Amino acid sequence: MRSESESAPSTRPALRRTKIIATIGPATDSPELLRRLIEAGMDVARINMSHSSGETAAAITRLLRQTAAELGRQVAIMMDLQGPAIRTGDLPTALDLKPGDRIALTVRGAKSEETHSVDVNYEHLVEDIGLGDIVIVDNGNIKLKVLEKRRNELTCEVLTEGVLGSRRHINLPGVRVKLPALTEKDILDVETAMAIGVDYIAMSFCREAEDVLKLKAILDYRKAPQKVIAKLEDQEGVKNLDAIIAAADAVMVARGDLGIELPFEELPIIQRRIVKHCILAGTPVIVATHMLESMIDNPSPTRAEITDVSNAVFEQADAIMHSGETSVGHYPLACLEIMDRIARRVERSGGAGYAELARMPSLGAKMVKAASLMAREVGAAALIVFTRRGSMARNAAWQRSLGTPVFAFTDDPVLLPTLALFWGIEPFLIEFHDDSAKNFEAAIARLKTKGLVKPGDHLVAVTEVNLGGRVMDTILMETVE
Ligand code: PEP
Repeated sequence: MRSESESAPSTRPALRRTKIIATIGPATDSPELLRRLIEAGMDVARINMSHSSGETAAAITRLLRQTAAELGRQVAIMMDLQGPAIRTGDLPTALDLKPGDRIALTVRGAKSEETHSVDVNYEHLVEDIGLGDIVIVDNGNIKLKVLEKRRNELTCEVLTEGVLGSRRHINLPGVRVKLPALTEKDILDVETAMAIGVDYIAMSFCREAEDVLKLKAILDYRKAPQKVIAKLEDQEGVKNLDAIIAAADAVMVARGDLGIELPFEELPIIQRRIVKHCILAGTPVIVATHMLESMIDNPSPTRAEITDVSNAVFEQADAIMHSGETSVGHYPLACLEIMDRIARRVERSGGAGYAELARMPSLGAKMVKAASLMAREVGAAALIVFTRRGSMARNAAWQRSLGTPVFAFTDDPVLLPTLALFWGIEPFLIEFHDDSAKNFEAAIARLKTKGLVKPGDHLVAVTEVNLGGRVMDTILMETVE
């Protein structure tokens, strides 16, 4: 890891390595706000299908593609599926619950004799849950303890007070629910994702590698290019962490639900474990939820939030994510700017990631590691990789090279925006020639035009060469003229 004084190879502002994801919602879905989010440094836009329709997702995707092209920026688009969410039904009036009150949770529309009762959309609720188990309602606001079970009804004691409105989210910590990984709504949304051409599909409540493989099978069958992000949000997902990391294209530490499904003091430990295991495996990882939560209503973050964002940057997660802050908050642009400032500052101070511990077993990864070391040794202004399917870019991100900026060139316009999620990768589109020297020249010309390199700069590249008909990877060095 380079020290602060060594880290900037030139006088232009250093590129931010940690990527920023912003959830788009009513606060930001206008052409003007989307443009300003991209200008403020949004790398990935997230559309949350718990709150968006297919038409809204299509309109946002169209606008983002158009605006990103106008601004010459690469922005990946993530559709986040609702997943197997358990919710309470409609209530004519909200219920004011006090500790010690009783409330019935009914299924299949059963009528209860309790004063307080609400129907739940999960028909196996009564069989799956045990006496004494805890039911958490409304994202942790209300806690209930199961006292009695009948055929279509649970009687619960209210442990923490709260006002229960209609259609509130329910968590059943530690309970293996029988809902499918992809609900009927999710499958319809996947259809939309393929039709409108988003880059990533995030799968909520991913509990095992099989869940990821099911979604990948649908995409493969349709020859759809979308990549799958596994959202880890319950105990089952955490238990199967390594298998999920191996199956997914990226992983999200979905702290909103994770912080409810686990005892809260476990959350920081699990976050660290997930980020570390992802970095050791070379799988991109996102830290999400409540990063600058207080900024939904306030123009500046709390000290604790600043430190939370910094921790994710120190850990070298690929990306940090805004949810409500940018979808419904009052200060979405300030949230972007503040996250950007924190990330840049922490990156300048060095970092304490896990990449140095990674074994990087593939030859491609070892080669990029060697090139990255060489770039550092010669004080190169940039490391360039050429990537057809994204793996060389992923290998380059895996190095977590704070010293040398990494520019990834691809000839695939569909792959191009997906690279925007990877730590430290600046993606570019060029045409590939059979002659690798020509590709290197074209890449240098592009970087010169963009003002990212200047005459006299050394550049190191990992590229294919054709030696007498044999195509192999090699490391090249060039000085910009
Ligand atoms: C989370 O739970 O942290 C999360 C990102 O998922 P959602 O916002 O869809 O609940």
